[in-house]
Amino acid sequence: MVKSEGVHKSYGHVEVLKGIDLEVRKGEVFCLIGPSGSGKSTFLRCINHLEKINAGRLYVDGELVGYRQKGDKLYELKDSEVALQRRDIGMVFQRFNLFPHMTAAENVMEAPIQVKGVSKAAARERAHHLLKRVGLGDKAGNYPAQLSGGQQQRVAIARALAMDPKLMLFDEPTSALDPELVGDVLDVMRDLAESGMTMVVVTHEMGFAREVGDNLVFMDGGVVVESGDPREVLNNPRHERTQSFLSKVL
Ligand code: ATP
Ligand code: MG
Repeated sequence: MVKSEGVHKSYGHVEVLKGIDLEVRKGEVFCLIGPSGSGKSTFLRCINHLEKINAGRLYVDGELVGYRQKGDKLYELKDSEVALQRRDIGMVFQRFNLFPHMTAAENVMEAPIQVKGVSKAAARERAHHLLKRVGLGDKAGNYPAQLSGGQQQRVAIARALAMDPKLMLFDEPTSALDPELVGDVLDVMRDLAESGMTMVVVTHEMGFAREVGDNLVFMDGGVVVESGDPREVLNNPRHERTQSFLSKVL
């Protein structure tokens, strides 16, 4: 579903991603861990072309992200074509970024109506169904300010799902939450994983990675240091850098 070949990304003279090679298979939960500044968020942003890569190739569902290839030349896609690629990719951030002046239901309805031209009635019905799915069937009429952080994050997940993405990207979705609210969000993510969704998850929740993850990658300094079965990597890290990182977070 995602294929990264030698992906490099620099900001000015600072090289943040130094050749990322990895593959996320369809239906897989792919967890990314690593110290602050290692390039995890940058890599997620490259996957949906919020950032342009400087070298390498990124594919989502077999399609080159942001470019069209003719012969051995690459041509940049138009903004409208990038938007088409991006609408199949859901993203959930650490900060929930809900529209504050819209209710939970309206937040979930917005993109299908605006982007896909879905009717208001159909979007509303779907929104209620999705809010129920994330355990918020009774909160559809609440504004973000009337919801807890964990509830807001679950609305954000429902909002992403409303576009029927084939891939979901999560960037530390529980890091901004009070500890007692983390479990509800992780439960929703676990359900989503069980439903077969392909997910790339940047997280500090090692329990989630161990139980739900199919693959775990440890990134440091813009490279993949180690990857494999989450239980294997977490129990028997082979590299000294992984061991040292895990000794601090586990
Ligand atoms: P964290 O765990 O703190 O979220 P991260 O692994 O997600 O860290 P990134 O946010 O990808 O790290 O950042 C990697 C490096 O790239 C950092 O050194 C950061 O300062 C730099 N960086 C990120 N975005 C930009 C930008 N827009 N302009 C310049 N430098 C940036
Ligand atoms: Mg980050």
